[in-house]
Order: sequence, then C-alpha cells, then structure tokens
Amino acid sequence: MKKYVYSFKEGSAEMKDLLGGKGANLAEMNNIGLPVPYGFTITTEACNKYYEKGNKLWESLKIEIDEKIKELEEVSGKKLGSKTNPLLVSVRSGAKFSMPGMMDTVLNLGLNNETVDALSKSTNNESFAYDSYRRLIQMFGDVVMNIEKRKFDEIYERITKKNNKKEDVEIEGSDLKEIVIEFKKLYKKETGNEFPVDPKEQLLLATKAVFNSWNTERAIIYRRMNNISDKLGTAVNIQAMVFGNLGEDCGTGVAFTRNPATGEKKLYGEFLINAQGEDVVAGIRTPINIEKLKEINIDIYKQFAQYAELLENHYKDMQDIEFTIEKNKLYILQTRNGKRTTAAALKIAVEMVSEDKIKKQEALMRVEASQLDQLLHPTFDDNLLKQTKAIAKGLPASPGASSGKVYFTAADVVEASKMGEKVILVRQETSPEDIEGMIKAKGILTSRGGMTSHAAVVARGMGKCCVAGCETIKVNETLRHFSIDGKTYKEGSYISIDGSTGNIYEGIIPTIEPKISEEFSIFMTWADGTRKLKIRANADTPKDATKALELGAEGIGLCRTEHMFFQEERIPAVREMILAENAEQRKAALEKILPMQKEDFIGIYKTMRERPITIRLLDPPLHEFLPTDEKSLKNLSKEMKIEYDKLKIRVEDLKEMNPMLGHRGCRLAITYIEIAEMQTKAIIEAAIQIKKEDGIEVNPEIMIPLIGLPEELTYIKDIITKVADKLIKESGTNLEYLFGTMIEIPRACIVADDIAKDAEFFSFGTNDLTQMTYGFSRDDAGKIIEEYLDKKIFEKDPFQSIDQKGVGALMKMAIERGKQQRPDISLGICGEHGGEPASIEFCHEIGLDYVSCSPFRVPVARLAAAQAVFKDDCKEY
Ligand code: PEP
Ligand code: MG
Repeated sequence: MKKYVYSFKEGSAEMKDLLGGKGANLAEMNNIGLPVPYGFTITTEACNKYYEKGNKLWESLKIEIDEKIKELEEVSGKKLGSKTNPLLVSVRSGAKFSMPGMMDTVLNLGLNNETVDALSKSTNNESFAYDSYRRLIQMFGDVVMNIEKRKFDEIYERITKKNNKKEDVEIEGSDLKEIVIEFKKLYKKETGNEFPVDPKEQLLLATKAVFNSWNTERAIIYRRMNNISDKLGTAVNIQAMVFGNLGEDCGTGVAFTRNPATGEKKLYGEFLINAQGEDVVAGIRTPINIEKLKEINIDIYKQFAQYAELLENHYKDMQDIEFTIEKNKLYILQTRNGKRTTAAALKIAVEMVSEDKIKKQEALMRVEASQLDQLLHPTFDDNLLKQTKAIAKGLPASPGASSGKVYFTAADVVEASKMGEKVILVRQETSPEDIEGMIKAKGILTSRGGMTSHAAVVARGMGKCCVAGCETIKVNETLRHFSIDGKTYKEGSYISIDGSTGNIYEGIIPTIEPKISEEFSIFMTWADGTRKLKIRANADTPKDATKALELGAEGIGLCRTEHMFFQEERIPAVREMILAENAEQRKAALEKILPMQKEDFIGIYKTMRERPITIRLLDPPLHEFLPTDEKSLKNLSKEMKIEYDKLKIRVEDLKEMNPMLGHRGCRLAITYIEIAEMQTKAIIEAAIQIKKEDGIEVNPEIMIPLIGLPEELTYIKDIITKVADKLIKESGTNLEYLFGTMIEIPRACIVADDIAKDAEFFSFGTNDLTQMTYGFSRDDAGKIIEEYLDKKIFEKDPFQSIDQKGVGALMKMAIERGKQQRPDISLGICGEHGGEPASIEFCHEIGLDYVSCSPFRVPVARLAAAQAVFKDDCKEY
C-alpha cells in the first residue's frame, strides 16, 4: 500500500518532492544528529489525493497518522491528550518551494481545558500554560477557521486594558484565563461550534486547513508569479512543541548564515527572549540582534554558530534557520536555503566558489536569471540626499529606492496603480492578503516587524524596495494616515523610501542609475565563458546602445527606426511625407528626414563600432504618426497649410479596422518605395562616412519586417540593393552589408526555404509571430489572457514566454527550412521573449545564434543563456 506519512527518521533532504522543503530538511537535520524536536510529515501526494477525494481525509491516511503519533509519543515520552504529561504539537505547511501565500503554522495543538492544567502543573507556570492555550485558540481560529485575527486582538487588548496591564510581562494567568474564555466565546459565535477539545480532531482539522491553503487565491497568485506548478501540492509537518516562552532562559529566533541583504559572511538574525516563534516573524515585538545573544548566553550562541556553520557546509548554501531555546537548551526548528537579494545571491555564489564549497557551474545556477535586473535598480542621488533630512528611519529590509504616493491598503494600491500612480504601500505590518498590493506598489513601508517579517521577506523576493519596522511612524490604516512626531501624512502624500538604508523622506527624490559590483562582473564573466548564444540588445538610440554595451550586449539585434520618426522636430516632415499627394512631394519630405536619420545611424555606429547592428525598416501603420482629435487636426491643417476637410479625408483614408494586420511592415516599403530608399540611403551613407572618417568598419544588417511571401522580399531586395550598391560603388569603399528579414508571420515559417534565397539572416519577431499564430491581438489580448490564466487554459502568458509547442514549432520549421536553403544563415530573435529565461533556454535548444532584448534585460539574457547550457546537468540547484 502506498505510504502517505513519513516520520523524520524515514526522510531525507532528497525527498523534497514528497515531503516538501521543510519536511525533507527536518528529516535531514534529525538524521545528521541536530537537536530537532521529533515529528512526522504527511506527503504532498496526500495533498493531491485529498483534492481527488473532494477535500476529504480518508480512513487509511488517518490510521497512518495515528501510527506516527504513537511513534512520536514514544520518542517524546509524552502523550497526546494526557492529563499528566500532555504532548503538544505544531502543524506547519511545507511545499517543495517555500510559499508565503499559504497557511503557515498552528502551534500548541493538544491543549484543552484539562491538558492546560497539566501543562500548568508540569511547568509550574500557569501564565505560560494559559498563554499557550489562548495562542492556540487564536491561531486555530484564524488560520483553520478563518476568524479575523483582529477580533482576537481586540479581545486581548480590551481585557489587558481593563485589568491595567501595560506590558506583556505584566499579564498573569488570571488575565489569560479570562482571555481564553472570551476567545472561546468568539470561536463559538463565529463558527457555531465549540472549540474542539479532542487533540486528534484539532490535528486533523489543522491538516485539512493546510491542504486547503494550497488553493487559496493568495497561494495561486504567488505560484503564478513564481512559475510554480499548481500540481505540486503541499506537505504537512507535525512536530513536538518546544517552548521559547517558558521564562527568561527561553527564547526563539531566526538567523541566516550570511547577510541576506548584502551577502556578507556573518551570522545575521534576530531573536526574542521569552517568546514563541510567530512573535519574531509576525513583527509583534521588535526583535534583538543575534549578536546580543553572546552577552545573554555565550554557550548557546557558540552552539548555534556551530550548528549554523555545519548546516551551511552540509547544504553548501546560505541557510535560514529557525531556532528555539527552551530552558537553556537549543533546538533547531527549521533550515532552508535562505531567500536573498540578488546582490547577496551573487556575492554568496562568488564567495562560495572561492571557499571551494561549490563549482562555478553551481554558482551560475544559484542566481535566478530573471532577478538579475534587481541589481540594476536606481538609488537616490547622493548629493540630493545630503541636503534632505530623513523624517524617520526603519530597517533596510530590501534594497532599492522609490518615491510615490502613500496608500494604506492593498486594495487602494491596486486601484491607484490602475490610474497610473506610483504608490508606496504603508502598513503596520503586511500579511499574505496584501500580496497583490505589494506586487503593484513601487515600495513598501511598515511600522512593525524585523528583517524576517513578512514585508521584508516578500519584498526581497520581489526585488522591491522595502523599509520595515519603522517604529517612529504611527500608522492608522482605518483613517488612512500616518504620523511622525505629531505631523500627519494623509493618503496621497508623497514620500521617498530607501530600502538600502532604511531612511524615509518627505516628497519625491530623483534617483540615479546603479553601479555594478565587482562580484557582478566576475559572475557575468563566468556566464559569458559558458553560454553559446550571443546576446544583442534592442536599441534605437546611442543612449540605449551605450546602456546595452555597459550591460554586456554584443550587438544590436533590433533598431526600430520608427522611434526615430516620432521625435518632435521630425514629426512635421514625417507628416508631410505621409500626407503627400504624389511621389514627388513624398520624396521632397523624405529629403528633409534623410540627414536626421543618417545622424541617428552615425550615433549608433560610433557607439557600437564593429559590432553587428540590425536595422529594421519602418514598420508601423502610418496613421500612428497623425493626430486624431479635431483640435490637433485643425492645428495641423494650419501648420501644413492643407485644407481641414482634405486633411480629414486623408486621415480617414489611412484608418484601418485591424491596423496590426494592415498597411504596415514590408507592405509600406512596397507601397511607398521612397521610404525604403531613403532609409537605405541613410544606413549606407552613414556607414560609408564612419568608415572613411573614423576607420570604423560597420557592416549594417538591413532587416525587412512582416514578410509573408518570398516575392515581397525579392521585390524589396531589388530596391534596396540598387540604392545601396550604387552608393558603395560611388564611395570607392568595399563596404559590406547584410540583407535579411524578420520572421513574424506564420506563412513565412512555412516558406522559409524560399525566403532564405534572398535573406542572409532571419530574426524571429515573436511578438507578431505569437499574435498571428494565436490570432490574438497584441493590443487587446491582455484581458483574455488574464482570464485564460485564471482558468488554467494558459499556464503562462505566451506574449511573455514563448509558446514552445505552437510558436516554437513554427520557429523550428523556419530554422530547418531556412538552413536547407542557406546552411550558414544567421538566426536570432528580437521579440520580447528574447529577454525571458525560459524562452532563452528554448532559443538555445533550437540552435539560434543570438537573442536580442531590451538593454536592462541583457544581464538576464547572459545568465539565462549560460544556465541553458547545463540546465539538465544540475537541475537540483
Ligand atoms: C516582433 O514582432 O516580435 C518585433 C520585434 O517587432 P515589433 O514588436 O516592433 O512588432
Ligand atoms: Mg513585429
């Protein structure tokens, strides 16, 4: 019979699929001899079966659980429900990948009116026993029964206030007994049932709640954002309790073996004396730095440091460790590879190679390619910062800098960002319900919680700037304002937050581009030494080209010339060209554009020098260059001295029902050959000039968009080569250029062999290719795609990550047929997919020569291309 429950001694670190990350690591730690409270894990397969059975726990699973409880009772010497020596357990979720959107923990299961007295007697600590009991009812009520946590908090505050208790430490057993009674009343009122007294019933209900939490909206959003499959399921870990809240010789904390924000090799963490686990993470009390543990108990500190080192060496990665001290005895409750900023990930990866802990290849797999652009986030301008006084300071929880309007609820952030506002989410503390607001916000500020609080951990994962635990600000979420020293900042006020220093400023502070660290350069050199794909950038200006080079681009894969046409001083000439009534007039207008266009190319050539540059001829429909509203049309008619009615008719003429499928791409060059001629002239003359004046040998690659018929390409090639060859001949140089095409219409893939007769290169325009393969309008499909993702018709948005089955098959066909015709044909991609790691891996597999993406994604592409080379070898990382 299939086994669904494993005790810790039966598991190991390799069993993450089955036991989840937490369960596998607990088993591993138990087996290497660390002091882990014993327990067992219900598998992820059980979770999937639970759903198959219509959200029910089945009998044989319950029997397996019973057997493991017996084993746990034997190991711990305690008994579940015992009136003399009760066993208490925690129930915690644990998927293969840690997931903040899910139910996390219920502690102290096993307590009821009888066992609480036994606990009180055995510990000789009534307030501890009743505090544990009220926590159980609260956590169980909150996470298992969905009773709003706030309602428990209100009771707690009401009773402690009534009894005149200011600090946690003043609260006594009698207060807590009263709280327990009120909590139970609340529980009954909210659920219609008494709080369950049977420990086994508590345990099974908590197990069901963990399984159910796998499919909450929050968890689904998180999985989608992180590309985690919905099919994995979560495991449930049941573990004997140890107590950090039994007195001053107890405590609990979380520590990283290295600094998760910077990567510095130094124990980094925080703890609370006389507290239970969730107090640290939930940010209810602000914790103490782990360094202080040296002063409080040097032996425990040393022991912890030794375990931390052992765990890091064992897992060969930075660890995030939860621990509890019960009566001066240290227990390790969890270890996992620590979440870190990308800057820290790079530093740790590079240093672990020099410490001989891992190989370069492993180091390259340790940094998530899609996150590399985090390093490229702006920071506040130092000079301006010196003149600006911070209004408050919190913990530097996640680096980066941002300014925006403050909003106090996730829903308000989502609304405001829909209106195009830049928003800072300000809250006392965040919780998984805030996830959508956190995604949309430019930065996050909380008044409570430490470096391991929800806000800090989630923001770091997202690469979003965050200041946490800023206690000087008083946040009132209901009234939607916060105050600092009596000054109130209402919803909509502007602030700036610096996630690298923790400083908060009033108003907006301009930001500057980030500098690149030494580790970044070393790391990227390893990536470059590994990858087979070349990396180019999509860049239309010398400024973009400079940025692209700085970030490691080896060429330009797409220079969209229409962007040059949109510049303010050019638009009149462009409009003149569009509104011309005959070829003569059009030529005259184009003559005005020519020198400007030539200057553009000279600028880009000078920046890129001998590197390859692909220049695409004009692509968008011409109406995009004309105004549509009456007022602008009237102005234009005056400026251009064209009668208003005539102008209106011309604009109407250019209108199309489906412009994306209309008069654009190569169809423009065929209709208005003068445009293609002018652009060719600018491209070639600029290259000749650069060659003569600066000795720079540029071999421009002239690219034609939206080809569907080989005949289109032949027709245009004839026009272009005539112009180009004549200019080259007259210049007396031997300038060489390439002629090629984008592949972005499905028909082009099918007739790629014929197209390759004329094309010396193909560049896949996967934006259009996706649009036309699916028949989804690029401009309008957003809402449909959202719906498809929600309904699981799509796993990923095909405009972000290549649809390998459909669009990918067309690409493969084009490559195969293109190569048959022209074996040395150059192959690249310049759609948005060129900067997306999974698509890059696919491009590597199908044998493209390069990918081209926006400049800021170039480092992402460099790393993703390297990872593609050995993705199969070390999937574990
Ligand atoms: C494409 O279609 O993929 C492409 C790069 O061209 P554009 O996005 O300019 O249509
Ligand atoms: Mg296109």
